[in-house]
Amino acid sequence: MASHDLVIIGGGPAGYAAALYGASAGLDVGLVEKNKLGGTCLNVGCIPAKELLETAHVRRTIMHAAEFGLNVDEPTIDMTVAQERKQGIVDKLVGGLASMLKGRKVTVYDGVGTLGADRTVTVTGADGEATELTGTHVALASGSVPRTIPGFDFDGDKVWSSDHMLSLDHVPGRVAIIGGGAIGCEFASMLVDLGTEVTLLEAMPRILALTDEDVSKAVSRAFSKRGIDVKAGVAVTGHEPHDGGTTVHFGDDDSVDVDFVCVSVGRRPYSDELGLDGTNVVTTERGFVEVDEYCQTAEPGVYALGDLIDTGQLAHVAFAEAILAVKHMLGENPLPIDHSRVPWGIYCNPEVAFAGLSEQAAKDAGYDIIVSKHRYAANGRAMIVGDTEGLVKVVAEKKPDGTGGVILGVHMVGPWVTEQLGQGYLSVNWEATVDEAAQFIQPHPTMSEVFGETVLSLTGRSLH
Ligand code: FAD
Repeated sequence: MASHDLVIIGGGPAGYAAALYGASAGLDVGLVEKNKLGGTCLNVGCIPAKELLETAHVRRTIMHAAEFGLNVDEPTIDMTVAQERKQGIVDKLVGGLASMLKGRKVTVYDGVGTLGADRTVTVTGADGEATELTGTHVALASGSVPRTIPGFDFDGDKVWSSDHMLSLDHVPGRVAIIGGGAIGCEFASMLVDLGTEVTLLEAMPRILALTDEDVSKAVSRAFSKRGIDVKAGVAVTGHEPHDGGTTVHFGDDDSVDVDFVCVSVGRRPYSDELGLDGTNVVTTERGFVEVDEYCQTAEPGVYALGDLIDTGQLAHVAFAEAILAVKHMLGENPLPIDHSRVPWGIYCNPEVAFAGLSEQAAKDAGYDIIVSKHRYAANGRAMIVGDTEGLVKVVAEKKPDGTGGVILGVHMVGPWVTEQLGQGYLSVNWEATVDEAAQFIQPHPTMSEVFGETVLSLTGRSLH
């Protein structure tokens, strides 16, 4: 039986981050992966999704080229080339990850890992051969898979999952997307920019329900302007496949005829092959593995990380959990993660990025607050790139003199905001006051000036 300081099941962001960080701290690490290193994020998640969104972005830019005095014909799309570019980037990142693991002397085991008693892990390879491992510590990082709703079994023909969408080999004529969360909105944005007619169906009263209401309204407005048919507050009741497409029924008596429907209603934690039954590891009703603030399960020495636990299903949260767990294994007494303040990025057009409390959440938590909003419409850089939709909103505690105190939340919607959230994230997490953040000098001309103007106005004075 091979033994390691740390045995990890799952080679996605949670598992590979634990492996790389653990190895860099001197641990001897074994990493078990049944499919491809990089997990959802590198293979069928963050990276391929953002890559195809970039293809859509380039087309959108070309469609607006005449505004800059560049007269070009309407572009045609070769999805084979687009897919090759996407796959090239995925392969480069997955290959780079394999090299990094090798460089840090992490032993990678190909096969399905199951957890037994006393931190033993059995790896069953494709040929059925079993290898027994034991770890001083074990980390479960088996991730998540797409969920669907009754009557919409994924078939890659009429009913697509995100995995199917990322292998898109043509520009479809009409598509319905069920679910107006982050992934659904990214796909809606991508497809409309590629030239597809899109209907976005959301059961909640508004799309992007986890964002501040002003942000969600801004995205909804921008989507409608670009021709996405946004239908919020409607339940999807079923669909009728027919030659060449399917008819999706929703609301009281409404329907839309599409080439196919993409179901983006979230992802369920995937513990199906972990063999947890004979252990003390507990799962919740929704299938998440229960952990404490250091990601420890109820089985001594066994941790769980990433999409498998009930925290934000984000690659960077998985990285943070991996570092936290490894530090805890090393007895370093790390600070637990404050999950109410992690950064979020959504890469539709307009982009969304936020950290901390929304206006409503701050009110619900009993804070006396003051809010300021500034739009990109008056920002020079945004005008230069021709992308002026959106705003920055800062939620702060209100001081007795009526000006802003500690910053509670920063919410952005607009051009490149996923690249601008950094200062907002730091302000929220360092509990900076409005006065402190207003001292930051914003380079000119940049879009980050909008954040600067927003915090400055909360001091009771302003520039522009
Ligand atoms: P996963 O990445 O799912 O990896 C789990 C791994 O474990 C898989 O490789 C699987 O094969 C393996 N495995 C499972 N069971 C076993 C077993 N028993 N034995 C061996 N191996 C096993 N997040 C962001 O932060 N930003 C984004 O922009 C973003 N975009 C996304 C877009 C899409 C379309 C999707 C679907 C997701 C996106 N995400 C994004 C979410 C992100 O991909 C996940 O949060 C992240 O991949 C979770 O990492 P993980 O390691 O927990 O799980």
